[in-house]
Amino acid sequence: MFRPGLFKRKIKKGKRGEDLPEPHEGLPDSHRPSGLCPRCGKQSSFDIAGSLPATFDSSYTIDHSGKEERGLIDRVSSLICRHCKQGVVVVEEEWVGDHPGKEAKTGGEVSYRGIHWWPIPEAYLSSDIPDEIAGVFAEAAKSLYANCPRAFAVMARRALEAICADKGETSGILADRLDNLKSKGILQPTLADWAKEVRLIGNVGAHFDPIQTVTMEDAKQLVSFLRELLKYLYELPAELARRKLEGKQSKDPQEQT
Ligand SMILES: [Zn+2]
Repeated sequence: MFRPGLFKRKIKKGKRGEDLPEPHEGLPDSHRPSGLCPRCGKQSSFDIAGSLPATFDSSYTIDHSGKEERGLIDRVSSLICRHCKQGVVVVEEEWVGDHPGKEAKTGGEVSYRGIHWWPIPEAYLSSDIPDEIAGVFAEAAKSLYANCPRAFAVMARRALEAICADKGETSGILADRLDNLKSKGILQPTLADWAKEVRLIGNVGAHFDPIQTVTMEDAKQLVSFLRELLKYLYELPAELARRKLEGKQSKDPQEQT
């Protein structure tokens, strides 16, 4: 069960005087009920609707009333987004202090932290993005949020290749293809420069396979870059085209050809 007393910090208050969790960039769980909502894609805070056991270990504890409780390795929590009012289901594993329960060598406060989320964040993209690219990105996102950074990197690089191919760049290393898109004026220079900073795009050493050493930090950089790229190349131009069309239609129909 969620215990607000676990947080040793100054608690911020919401509009109705409720406690607000600290904002952060990750996904919400009962340990930190704030962050990116997998439903609405907004930064939000969450109410915990409840938790149920999933996997037990062999230990037992006695609660205040003398009742025996089985030790839990993981559990499922339902969190309600305060923005879209929808539920998010999180599979959470036990942590003791600052380590997962299975690794814990010393004691500490018990908390439960997310390892899987439903719906899967960022798995469903705007219909402005070509299906093939959106499909590859969805597979990448599923891997990332299942804590599989190497599988993510493979799919994310494939998504980048698909984007480059869609824009006419089909050969050479990824970093060069992105550079070519910049030279052609298709890619904004800031994004092309950002690409150089993303280790997994730039690292092409002949005797070093960057996919073998992908950290979650690398993966997060790559997914941020990919999202911005999709926004810039597909979503913003489509939105602009729709607005122009709406503007045209709202004018005198006589002016239209
Ligand atoms: Zn939401």
